Amino acid sequence: MQITDIEALRTQLSGVVLTRGDTGYHEARSAWNGEIDRYPAVIARCAGATDVAAAIGFARQHGLEISVRGGFHNTAGTAICNDGLMVDLSPMCRVEVDPAARRARVGGGATLGALDAATQAHGLAVPAGIVSHTGVGGLALGGGMGWLTPLFGLTADNLVSAEVVTADGRRLRAAADENQDLFWALRGGGGNFGVVTEFEFQLHPVGPLVHLGMFFWGLDQGAEALRLGRDLFATLPGNANAMIISVNAPPAPFVPEQFHFMPGYIVAVVGFGSAEEHAGVLAPIRAALPPLFEFVTPLPYIQLQQMFDEEARWGLNYYEKALYLDRLSDDAISLITEHQTRKTSPRSMLELVRLDGAYTEVGEDDTAFGGSRSAHISVNFVAVTEDLTLLAAERAWVRSFWEALRPHATGAGSYVNAMAEMEEDRVRASYGPAKYERLARVKAAYDPDNVFHLNANITPALQPI
Ligand SMILES: Cc1cc2nc3c(=O)[nH]c(=O)nc-3n(C[C@H](O)[C@H](O)[C@H](O)COP(=O)(O)OP(=O)(O)OC[C@H]3O[C@@H](n4cnc5c(N)ncnc54)[C@H](O)[C@@H]3O)c2cc1C
Repeated sequence: MQITDIEALRTQLSGVVLTRGDTGYHEARSAWNGEIDRYPAVIARCAGATDVAAAIGFARQHGLEISVRGGFHNTAGTAICNDGLMVDLSPMCRVEVDPAARRARVGGGATLGALDAATQAHGLAVPAGIVSHTGVGGLALGGGMGWLTPLFGLTADNLVSAEVVTADGRRLRAAADENQDLFWALRGGGGNFGVVTEFEFQLHPVGPLVHLGMFFWGLDQGAEALRLGRDLFATLPGNANAMIISVNAPPAPFVPEQFHFMPGYIVAVVGFGSAEEHAGVLAPIRAALPPLFEFVTPLPYIQLQQMFDEEARWGLNYYEKALYLDRLSDDAISLITEHQTRKTSPRSMLELVRLDGAYTEVGEDDTAFGGSRSAHISVNFVAVTEDLTLLAAERAWVRSFWEALRPHATGAGSYVNAMAEMEEDRVRASYGPAKYERLARVKAAYDPDNVFHLNANITPALQPI
């Protein structure tokens, strides 16, 4: 590839093209996970679908590997490649809301924060993740779970249509009435089928004020806290959700000073109904197991969505694994409390995410999502260090913890968006044989050459549909 080739690409794109040495190149290649350190030959900062098609065409013409960057949060760093071309969608972050139709049109590179800001201006929301700097693109295409999942399903369940640029540069629309196979595959099958330049989502009335209740116990009360969380998960009303997180208490204003940095367990409850209903959910928690401290407050939904932004900030070093549990058995609880004492970094954490309610009302095969639609829990083991040299020890902790809990897991799969290593067998197991085969046929139809392979990859089936 010559300098003149890059100049030719620059004339084709409305967005900026960066190569090594250009101002902005290092910023553009810096992933959320500080451990990722890769140097693409070309970064194409795309301003729209035409740019995306031109960038893909250029990469294929010059034999460059392609990666696709939405919010740059994938822990494995699938959004960036060495020596290839990164299709950077971050300039495509516009969100347009039609409040009457309860629909949002969202650029392929938008963040959850931009989505929440635009939709909450109308008291509406799309169910999505719990950290506002995460990208809509990768999150929605792999599933998308968060506080609103039991009320309105996954982010992918709320996709109405998508504009997609395929590996051969075509611009397609996928929806229930158009390219149905592609529309099915986009709802859980990840970035395998093309670059989504625009998502259209269904919106729901949410907030703007919601109710938070957070309770904290030390490691010594871990088993009781987990059992309490288990009972709570089973009995929550339809307009509330809860999460269990094992972390060190942050030095936040609502945490009494003597508990700053103390390791322990948080049960966090969010109520989307009235203050009275919320109080009714919280009272039995307090009565059953008095916490070391609690934080109960109404807060804007937008603030709820930013609550973990700082803990999960850009540039720290991360590693993660996940699995699904049907239920939090006593044996699983024993393993969790045992392994949770062994982490060496105060930033590492364990998250138990409840998948229930509206999530279970979607048919197993209605979308390509890689996980059963029966009520269960997604367990995410996350290693976090400030110092890269300490990550190896925390990675070992995550792996041994995950191995220990694995015999209690539902199936051999896990949430495809929580894989720091894209192991083919685990990707296959996450979808199960029938869904994987169907995805492989759709892959063969839209990306037979596996141009989009830096992801939880689906190998194209030999026989296209
Ligand atoms: C701090 C943090 C919090 C998280 N919280 C949650 C959560 O609450 N709930 C949840 O479900 N998940 C959560 N996740 C996981 C998250 O869903 C994945 O990391 C996801 O890949 C992030 O998407 P992204 O666009 O930011 O990532 P990127 O790294 O930019 O993209 C990941 C992959 O997605 C594909 N991709 C992205 N955008 C597009 C597009 N427009 N078109 C085609 N392909 C695309 C590409 O294959 C790319 O390699 C979280 C992750 C982090 C780091």
